Amino acid sequence: MNNYDLIIIGGGAAGQMAAISAKRNNSSLRVAIIDRTFALGRKILVCGAGRCNITNINLDTDVEKRYYGASPEFIREILNQFSYKDIVSFFNELGVELYVERKTDIGKLFPVTDQAKTITSLLENELKILGIDVHLNTEVTNVKKQNEEFTISTNLLNQEGKTVISNEFSSKYLIMSAGGRTYPALGSNGTGYRLAESFGHTIVDPVPSALPLVSKNLLSQELQGTKMEIEVTSIIEGEEVKTRTDDVMFTQYGFSGPAILNVSREISIQINRLAKNNVQLRLNFFPGKTIPEVTDLLELRWKRRPTLTIEESMFGLFPNKISSALLKVLNINKSLKVSEIDSQTKQKLVNGLTNNIVDISGTRGWNEAEFTAGGINTQEVIQGTLQSRLVKNLYFCGEILDVDGDVGGFNLSWAWASGNVAGKLR
Ligand SMILES: Cc1cc2nc3c(=O)[nH]c(=O)nc-3n(C[C@H](O)[C@H](O)[C@H](O)COP(=O)(O)OP(=O)(O)OC[C@H]3O[C@@H](n4cnc5c(N)ncnc54)[C@H](O)[C@@H]3O)c2cc1C
Repeated sequence: MNNYDLIIIGGGAAGQMAAISAKRNNSSLRVAIIDRTFALGRKILVCGAGRCNITNINLDTDVEKRYYGASPEFIREILNQFSYKDIVSFFNELGVELYVERKTDIGKLFPVTDQAKTITSLLENELKILGIDVHLNTEVTNVKKQNEEFTISTNLLNQEGKTVISNEFSSKYLIMSAGGRTYPALGSNGTGYRLAESFGHTIVDPVPSALPLVSKNLLSQELQGTKMEIEVTSIIEGEEVKTRTDDVMFTQYGFSGPAILNVSREISIQINRLAKNNVQLRLNFFPGKTIPEVTDLLELRWKRRPTLTIEESMFGLFPNKISSALLKVLNINKSLKVSEIDSQTKQKLVNGLTNNIVDISGTRGWNEAEFTAGGINTQEVIQGTLQSRLVKNLYFCGEILDVDGDVGGFNLSWAWASGNVAGKLR
């Protein structure tokens, strides 16, 4: 039987939550999820490096600072309906105990099992308990609406992704939760945008976000494979945009690591959406410290140990490899005795340690990005219900919408909250 009251296209975090919400709200609804891959929630499994950073204790505060795309009011109205507390009790009630990670101290919540599989298994159980049908390996190719009924055309795919048979489904309500474009191998490959466009919706040009950056620079060459905590500031067309302190990984192509992912959004928009350049990063190897403070700190070390070389004087501040690479990149003789450092060398060193500017030439691609910036234009979606303004009984939730958040559990939180609201079919 292919006729349902509600069909949900895409069974990721948002789609599964929407199905559960719909059925809990109205148990008589016949609900089905259609997904193009062989399992639901495959992206949940890679979240937080397989540990699943499910939400964040700071979810309900500073929406303006943590979310992008749609207006803060649009996002807040959804998070007010399914808040941090609701997300935690939803998962507690499913049987998942959560803990706040202290290591990064930014309020990330994880399941105590540290396994994303816990989350996908319990969601799957809940779908079964509620009697929600799941159609896997089924790609939606077309959607249309006639006489108050949606017709959903699909292809059943085999292991190689080839069509085995085409099929049609119909429903009174339709929720689109087909995700963005990142990690297409896990299911969301951007086809959802095309389906929404066929209903007249417009798409804010999607670009990859939370991704590594490409930069030909001597530091990355010298320090390939090394990581350290650095304060990173993105600079676009001469304007400082965002500053974050966290680990930076030096790679053969440039930079990766959480600090880089956290400042990459605006850079990706500048390069990939606006097709412009003029992007730089400022690296401060002494997070939170100013040039005079670092000068004082170094001078004190040099005064205490006047017989050391400049390189030896930096051991203890940085891993040895980093000290010598920094001096090499700054073109300072590492054997120079600290008693012989002149003011020009001092200035060069302090500047290189606190205000090291590197040019960014590009970003890595969709296969390395955690989220999509862009998506369905939220001005065409009713604030507070997520119903389309253009097509009655059509709803959207999750990453397919033009909403993305900071690293730290904000994107899954959006998927849970928007899925819950869309599922209410108001
Ligand atoms: C490596 C990585 C790590 C991440 N870590 C975190 C983290 O720790 N915390 C956090 O908050 N966020 C994290 N995210 C982001 C988070 O995973 C996503 O924002 C969230 O999962 C989006 O959920 P969604 O349901 O909207 O979309 P998706 O999970 O992408 O689900 C969309 C579903 O739709 C299906 N689909 C697409 N098109 C069709 C079609 N035409 N027909 C049928 N089915 C279709 C897909 O197969 C997919 O199952 C991470 C992302 C990545 C890539």
